[in-house]
Amino acid sequence: MENLTPFVTVVCGVLGLVIGSFLNVVIWRVPRKESVVAPRSKCPTCDTPISNRDNIPVVSWLALRGKCRTCAATISARYPLVEFATGMLFAAIGARYAHSWALPAYLVLGAALIAISAIDVEHYIIPNRIVYPVGFALVPLFALAALLGHDWHAFERALLGALAAFGVLLVIHLISPGGMGFGDVRLCFLLGLALGWLGWPEVYFGLLAGFMYGSVIGVTLMALRVLKRGEHLPFGPFLAAGAITIVLLGAPVLHFAPR
Ligand SMILES: [Zn+2]
Repeated sequence: MENLTPFVTVVCGVLGLVIGSFLNVVIWRVPRKESVVAPRSKCPTCDTPISNRDNIPVVSWLALRGKCRTCAATISARYPLVEFATGMLFAAIGARYAHSWALPAYLVLGAALIAISAIDVEHYIIPNRIVYPVGFALVPLFALAALLGHDWHAFERALLGALAAFGVLLVIHLISPGGMGFGDVRLCFLLGLALGWLGWPEVYFGLLAGFMYGSVIGVTLMALRVLKRGEHLPFGPFLAAGAITIVLLGAPVLHFAPR
């Protein structure tokens, strides 16, 4: 196989649309402590179960013009947006990791970060019901990638990266408990794991990018008076965006040493 990249990109993109549809269920039900497997999705207004033809990612929402087929209640644009965003993120991860055994791990991470971000924005929580199972999935997925790619050094670095990121955020949490919840600390274990697989500069810049996004957007919203004194933003989406930036683009290459 000379170049798998275009094929893997398209397959991952389509998979992302389908997974995005499932993430909508996760985003709605996990904060409400409901099962994500049963029962099947219903219209929240009229309780009519959603038929298969009305459950096609993005397409169904557009065909129904954002309204329930039975009661015509408005269906939030968040549903097609989550599906579209997951499709695009999966395609980007597919393009970047088409030739890597770690591809499945990064797809799981991407799906988890979309669900976590959407829930954190709405409810200001990062649910353990997502972080723990994803952690238990990522460690064996990276171990499998290490086995297949003969790179146990990367796996060891991933585990150390997870502990380092968790430790740094724990210290920040303990110094200023108001600013950062313990959910963010646990989330950074996952981010450190995925960034650590790539390298130590990736761990550093992945977390740094998250803090930069958070402070730039926070200061901007305060200047615009959207965010009032004493209010704060959920931090999970910024940490997720920072990590994804480095997972997709890599860490900046630094040449400090004089030649
Ligand atoms: Zn309805």
